[in-house]
Amino acid sequence: MVELDEILASIHDRIVDEADWGIPAQYIPELATIPADQFAISVCLADGSTHSAGSANTPFSIQSISKVFALIATLGRIGEQLWTRVGREPTGTAFDSIGILESDAGRPRNPFINAGAIVTTDALLSGREPREALAETLGLIRAMAESDDIYINDRVARSEERTGARNKALAHYLSSHGNLEHEPEKLLGTYFHQCAIEMTTEQLAKAGRALARLPDAPRTLSKEHAKRVNALMMSCGHYDASGEFAYRVGLPGKSGVGGGILIVAPHKASIGIWSPGLDGYGNSKAGTRAAVMLSRATEWSVF
Ligand code: GLU
Repeated sequence: MVELDEILASIHDRIVDEADWGIPAQYIPELATIPADQFAISVCLADGSTHSAGSANTPFSIQSISKVFALIATLGRIGEQLWTRVGREPTGTAFDSIGILESDAGRPRNPFINAGAIVTTDALLSGREPREALAETLGLIRAMAESDDIYINDRVARSEERTGARNKALAHYLSSHGNLEHEPEKLLGTYFHQCAIEMTTEQLAKAGRALARLPDAPRTLSKEHAKRVNALMMSCGHYDASGEFAYRVGLPGKSGVGGGILIVAPHKASIGIWSPGLDGYGNSKAGTRAAVMLSRATEWSVF
């Protein structure tokens, strides 16, 4: 599709010209030193074609985007039972907020904030060893992306393990409310490794096809689950900037502190964007601008 290629090339050029990159996540040492001036965008369409601009074959740390895949795996395993332990409401607070957990009596408000993802991973781990739960999430991602060339970056996981005091505090707090089955340390090892999965924007866009319900997507999740996960991405996918992303882009999206964004245009397209510099909310600064430009140019907003 020539027109889409032109749109992506012009978004890429504008992002590079503006050079307003933001700052890579500083609290994870292994991510802190990544050069900020990088950008990639990939789009899979309903006709089975994939279009990209920028460094679409550079793997990056998907971080919180992994929460989407862990949620899909957990819903597949235990279904609606998950919602007894995690809610489905946006928070309006930071992704790693502890305060809000206190008012919610240890039941995290949604599966995309850190506390909610830690509980989701705890449920996924039930009755299994960490490597088995990780293999399930990684296997699901590979199947959704139809690519076996997707791996966990152990250095990133260990870097976060060394510095993740905030996540440890969250896990212990959840534990004090009886909302964790596993020891915080064992559970967080699984969580950090899941966050350290690396993908390219092309692989990410391909993995999103099942959520967008594109015809060529591998049958990896049910229509019901796709609808539900999209609803959560729309309302909770960008932490305390979720409302702003819905307002400006009008599509379900999930960001990660590695600078990636997965965006779903139901029945039309699946989109992977990456630029490692973040804004004050922990979302990719240039990536979010690119998402706004793409939504405007294509009129893919669901509204
Ligand atoms: N591994 C990161 C953390 O737990 C994920 C956060 C994010 O990507 O927003 O802090």
